[in-house]
Amino acid sequence: LDDLADAVRERGDHPAVIAYEGRECVRTLTYAELDRLVTRFAAALVELGVGPGDDVAAYLPNRWQLTPLYLACHRVGAVVTPVIPILDVRELGYVLRTAGAKVCVTVDRIGDTDYGARLAEAAPDTLAHRLVIGDAAASGAIDFDEFFVDTPWEERHTVDPEAALGPDDPALLLYTSGTTGRMKGVVHSQNTLYASVLAVSEPHRLTAEDVISIPNFHTHMAGLAYACYMPLLLHATDVVQDANQDMELLLDIIATHRVTWAYASPAYLVDMLEVQRKEPRDTSSVGQIVSGSAPIQPRLITEMREVFDLPVRALWGMTENGAVTVTRADDPEGWAGQSDGRAEPSMEIRIDREPGAEEGRLLVRGASQCLGYLGQRDVYEACLDEDGWFDTSDLARDDGRGGIRITGRTADQITRASGMKVSTLYVESVLTRHPGVREVALVGYPDPRVPSAELVCAVVVAEGEPPTLEELRRHLAEEKMAEVLWPDRLQFMWQLPKNSLGKVLRQPLRERLETEYA
Ligand code: ATP
Ligand code: MG
Repeated sequence: LDDLADAVRERGDHPAVIAYEGRECVRTLTYAELDRLVTRFAAALVELGVGPGDDVAAYLPNRWQLTPLYLACHRVGAVVTPVIPILDVRELGYVLRTAGAKVCVTVDRIGDTDYGARLAEAAPDTLAHRLVIGDAAASGAIDFDEFFVDTPWEERHTVDPEAALGPDDPALLLYTSGTTGRMKGVVHSQNTLYASVLAVSEPHRLTAEDVISIPNFHTHMAGLAYACYMPLLLHATDVVQDANQDMELLLDIIATHRVTWAYASPAYLVDMLEVQRKEPRDTSSVGQIVSGSAPIQPRLITEMREVFDLPVRALWGMTENGAVTVTRADDPEGWAGQSDGRAEPSMEIRIDREPGAEEGRLLVRGASQCLGYLGQRDVYEACLDEDGWFDTSDLARDDGRGGIRITGRTADQITRASGMKVSTLYVESVLTRHPGVREVALVGYPDPRVPSAELVCAVVVAEGEPPTLEELRRHLAEEKMAEVLWPDRLQFMWQLPKNSLGKVLRQPLRERLETEYA
């Protein structure tokens, strides 16, 4: 992945990375410059004593320094551990400790957050070097730009990439979102990462002419694979915006740099619509906008078409395997609301169903599947069967066109006294078609008549006039949904509890209902 020779030969002057900090465009790296920086960064890592198998962490908002740092780690055979900057001292300490990080890079203070100080506080004994982009002195760290960017270490150390680790060795350690429990450290090789890039670039027919921008963190799977690596493998351009969730900036970037392909999780699409309605930008360069990480409501897809005249493509994946399924250009319009796409070219998918059931556990197998969980071999092996199928713990149904529709997570399933299982996402997606429902989460609560069985509560964020339970049940009847799936109770909230990536956290809702209805 760090071999830029072809890109430099063919398009040395073409921008590889265009970077914003806040609202300012601060840097453009051509392929030739990027290659020079990777050489320098690799030599700087050697100077710091980093060699094959050592861990280098990057606790960063989106910065132009990330891409050359990732590639330099590959060049010296180090394992790179990206850490999303919203983690605080406790979680950062957990990641650095479990990863055994030797070096960690961060930034100084942004707004109220002093990342340098957080890193100083979280640093375990094994961390030999702290580097800070910006004001490093304040936290007693090394100045990253002075050390990595301005010092010609390549005159002192020549790095032989052949001497580093191979393409199937551990290269990347990425932590999961921790939606269902403690974050897991997922180990990828260069090859598994490469396969997850192809899973998107091929079905979306991306080329060197594409301009890509992703407001999500480039230290998390989607941003990392599709903003940092995918453009490079295509010899295309990535426009970096610090993931400050500023959709006005994203739309300005799209208009200024004629972005052709963007990824934004559903929560961001909601904001994009709001911004565009207030002050429309020229987004005509965008061929497709891709949404994943969490379920997209069909209504959002319709609104994206109305407001931007753009097709939304769905994407499903996990930290464990990158994007696995996508809807594609030749799929019917609006398909993204009913399907999360097909898997190609290098993954297989399978749904394990009980007889007569429509949904079942989703299993995957193929080239982008990770090498395992760091330090939790037994946990990973418990997810694998003897033929190498990985149980995703997600639930899915057939979309009728050779693909899948994600219907929930096994951990979120609600089991009624009859043994009937209610899959939350499926019912939620139909409930959100009711005009009075802006957002909804289905949560189980104890059935007073039967120990260990549950009843179903719909926790709703209302749009306009709040609907009654009867209205919602009538809506589900009109949608011809089986009565066993209908909610038994209705509760309203101003907003649903979500984690930093916009995923609904059901555990706090469950706890709240348990005490209320105990
Ligand atoms: P943890 O494994 O730590 O509990 P997590 O599974 O949320 O956290 P990620 O790897 O970031 O961590 O997210 C992958 C999960 O996100 C998938 O297993 C799936 O449940 C959900 N997801 C991803 N894409 C979609 C989608 N298009 N529709 C619905 N859910 C999705
Ligand atoms: Mg998971």
